This record gives sequence, structure tokens and C-alpha cells, in this order.
Amino acid sequence: MARIVLVSDTTLSRTYRSVPLLDFLASAPTDALPGAIYSFLKGPPPPGVGGRAAFAPYAVRKLEAALLKSFTSEEVVVAQEDHISEFIDDSTEVIGVSTMDPLGLGPLTMSYAVFFETRAPAYVQREFESLLHRINRARAGKKAKLLVGGPGVWELTVRPEELEKNKIDFAFQGEADDIAGDLFRYVSDDSGEKTEFFRGYQTFNADFRKEWEPNPKFISRYQFSRQFPTLEEIPDIVNPSVKGMVEVMRGCGIGCDFCEVTLRPLRYYSPEKVRRELEVNVRSGQHNAWLHTDEFFAYQHGRSYVPNEDALLDLMKEVMTTSGITRSNPTHGRISIPAAYPDMMRRISSVMRAGPNNWIGLQVGIETGSDQLAAKHMPNKTLPLKVGPDGSWSDIVWKGTYVMNKNYWRPAFTVQVGQAGETPDDNWDTVALINRMSNSTLDSGLPFEFTVTPMQHVPLGLLKNRDFSSLKLDQSQLAVYYASYRHLAKIAARDAARASSDTNVASRYVTGAMIGLGGWAMFHHVKSICRKGGLDVEKADRYGLSERPQIPSLLLTH
Ligand code: SF4
Repeated sequence: MARIVLVSDTTLSRTYRSVPLLDFLASAPTDALPGAIYSFLKGPPPPGVGGRAAFAPYAVRKLEAALLKSFTSEEVVVAQEDHISEFIDDSTEVIGVSTMDPLGLGPLTMSYAVFFETRAPAYVQREFESLLHRINRARAGKKAKLLVGGPGVWELTVRPEELEKNKIDFAFQGEADDIAGDLFRYVSDDSGEKTEFFRGYQTFNADFRKEWEPNPKFISRYQFSRQFPTLEEIPDIVNPSVKGMVEVMRGCGIGCDFCEVTLRPLRYYSPEKVRRELEVNVRSGQHNAWLHTDEFFAYQHGRSYVPNEDALLDLMKEVMTTSGITRSNPTHGRISIPAAYPDMMRRISSVMRAGPNNWIGLQVGIETGSDQLAAKHMPNKTLPLKVGPDGSWSDIVWKGTYVMNKNYWRPAFTVQVGQAGETPDDNWDTVALINRMSNSTLDSGLPFEFTVTPMQHVPLGLLKNRDFSSLKLDQSQLAVYYASYRHLAKIAARDAARASSDTNVASRYVTGAMIGLGGWAMFHHVKSICRKGGLDVEKADRYGLSERPQIPSLLLTH
């Protein structure tokens, strides 16, 4: 039996019928989306061999690789979620669970909760609790400790009482690639004496500065030591990841004032390291390279965040010439780079073999249509373009979308509602931007291809106190939700038939029908809520469209 059993939060191990935006499905409240539809759309559990997961989320594979430096492959098991109890016996020391949004406090999950004014748990929370319930039943009366880690641990720092409630022994916060063996031994021994770890967690004060908060249920890297592994200390994965994901860099450095990623040091994987991990995925039959990065265009960037075209091209050439890889897409990137470097985008797209049958998806946080908020919260996100001399922020977004679409990239935008210092005018600027782009076309007459999802910014204080009563959306905020879902319904109707790349034809057909119908139903539900909230939906329909969409002047300079 295994000394260490790893498993991921169920919502991270599913493929969501290979429809990219459906990854967001588990954020829906359980009283707003019927369970049967959720269960179908999330897809089947990953296959396995003898109860071991054939594919696991990248973070779990990274942890597995790090532990294999200290333990044998018999001692470390990445289990299929439905088979986890088969690996837990008296010899099991630690069960590690990786999670992203365990309590449903993430910005997307909160956006649904606030908009629908519901206190029902989201599927992310329900799935997390159900997994922990199964694990706790399997380990009852045994010595195995339950350790939770991953990017969602910040939510447990906001509500530490949830650790006790869910019988979690410890939560680990931070990157553990270089200390995984020591960490798991420390958890197993639980002596509480050693000093290489801090019993507590890091949090942020009102000025977004880090503070240390002691708490015996939390474990962090020792506060006076290095907080991150070096590039050399990050091991390659040794078994395949879900959806063929591999990492190309950590950190970002752009400095948006709401973002924790920017505080991590920048570490760039070499193209050779990326290739080695891709080869692991190719051997398992995966031919898509999904490149995890928080800002793809910052890969080895120059001064003032000028993109390093040579480095980007070298990286993508290495990816696309990896035997067995047929397509690729990065996870996140900034819109100002396509806007400012259309020729570079053309060259990168050519290497990536982008085309009418190979659209490249990229998640892009545009956050707002307002110049005032862009300057306040994310002044570097617009670089090397500057709001003012190079047009408005919405001009930059418009042009970036135009260049991306021309090169067969489809951005999945997110916008924020509830940012600090936000006024109704800022939100109406966002509505105008969405409407303008939703009604724009390329020179060929094809409509702009993009999706847009509103995210709710909820201050930490409200999350801590569970006090959401002050989060009543005003009309301008409702208008952002309305314009977003109006556009999503339009896209769903247009693209539903080809949205899924599921290999099962029947599933693909059903998924397409559900997405088309679901987009329409969701929009009408949203419309009715907005009307009840006092929104003049006719005004929202036409806001920002009084003039024909103009080609921004900066477009003419390239
Ligand atoms: S560009 Fe994205 S990842 Fe980078 S700091 Fe801004 S929000 Fe964070």
C-alpha cells in the first residue's frame, strides 16, 4: 500500500467535454444549474490503471515528481478519485489533496453568488466537501494525515474554521517543488518542533503587503528562508497531465495591484524543459500542448515588458516540432501585445499553425473598459502602449482583438465588477466596450470572435465576515453582467456546433445543443434579473453604439 496518496479536487480532473469555457461550469451555484446537466457536461472521470489516475492535474503531477525524489513510485500514488479508498490503509502516512476553489470564494464563483443572490454552495464547494467526506471515511481510525494544498488554500486562510469542519489536519500554502519530501515527512511526524516550516500562513494587509499569521493548522515555508524554488529545483513531470498541460513560466511581474501572481519571482522554463514534459504527455496519446503561463507574452520579456519575439518563437518552434504535438495554446496573455505587435503575432501564429480550423484560445483579463480604472489598477498591463497617446484602453482592447482574430486567436476575456474606486461611469465604459466589440467585424465581414465573463471583486473583509449584504449590484454593475451574457448567448448560438472537440460524436452533438440552448436560457434568466434590479435593458443594448464602431487611430500606425 502507498505511504502517500495524492488526489485532486474533482473539478480539476475533468475535461468538460473539451469545451474550453466549460471549465468555469463548476463555479455555478447548485440551485441555479440542474445536477444532471452539470454531471453530463463535466464529463467522465479520468481513466486509470489499477485505481491510479492515467491523467492528473498538472499541479498534482508536479507534486508527484517532487515527492519521487524522496520516495519510491510504489510509495507515492496518484489515485483516481473514485478509487482513493483502495490505497488507504494502516501504512498510509499522508493523503494530499490539491484544490483551486474549495469554498467557492473565487471571483467567478462569487460573481454567480452575488448576481443570483444565492447562498447555495457552488459545485466547486460541494465536490470538494464530498471528496473530503470520502477520504475521511476511508482514513477513519488510521494514522493517515489529511493535507490540503494548491492555489485555493488562500480561501482556507480566510475561513480557517473550515479546516476543523472538514477534518483537514493541515493546509500548506506556497510552492513546494524543492521541499515536498521534507514537508510530507513533517506532516507525517507532526512533532511541531522543527523550524524549517512556519506554522501559519501569509496574508495581505490593506496595502497589499504580506503579513505572517500564526495558526497551528497551517504550514508555510519558514518565514526567514527563500519562499520559492529556483528553476533548477522544479522537477519535470513524470506522468501525464490533464488536457496535456505543461508550464512554461512562473510569476508575471506586470504588477496589477489586485494580483498575487505578480509577487512571485519570474522563472522561465527553457524550450528543452517544456519539450521534455510534452513528451510525457505525447506518450499517453495527447497531442495538444496547453501551455500554462499567467502572461505568455512576458516569456523572457525585455525592458518595459517589450515582448521577446525571438524567445517566443524559439519556444513555440520547440513545442510545435515536438514529435506528436499537432496544436498548442497558451493559457493567459495580455491584449496590449497583439495590439502593438501585429507582425509578431502573425509570425507566432504561423509557427503555431493557426487557421480557420485551428483557432487558438487565450484567456485575457481586460478587467474594465474604463481608462480611469486601467490607469489606477493595472498601468503596466497596457504597455508598451500607453492609454492617452496610443488611444483609450478600449481602443487598445479593440485593436488587440482585431489582430488576434485576424490571426485565428479567440480571446476569452474577463472583466471585473466591484473594483476599488469604481464608479457607475466606469462600468458603463465596460458595457460600451463589450457592445462595440460584439458589433464589430473583420475586413472579411466575419464578426469578432471572443467571449467575455464578468468576475466579482469581493473585498477580503466581506469574505471573512460572510457579509454580502452590501454587495447589492447597482444598475451599472448589472449592465456589465447583462452585456456579457448577451454577447455569450450570441456566441453560443453561433459557435455551439463546433464548440466541443469531444471524440464521441453523440456527446459532441448533445454538448453543442446544451451550450446553444444553455446560452440562450442563461441570457434570458440574466435579463429578467437585471430588469427586476431596475436596469433599463434597452439602454444597455445600445449603449456605446450610437456611432459606427471606429477603427482606432493606432491601428493605422501598423
Ligand atoms: S498581467 Fe495578469 S498575471 Fe500579470 S499581474 Fe496583471 S493580472 Fe496578474
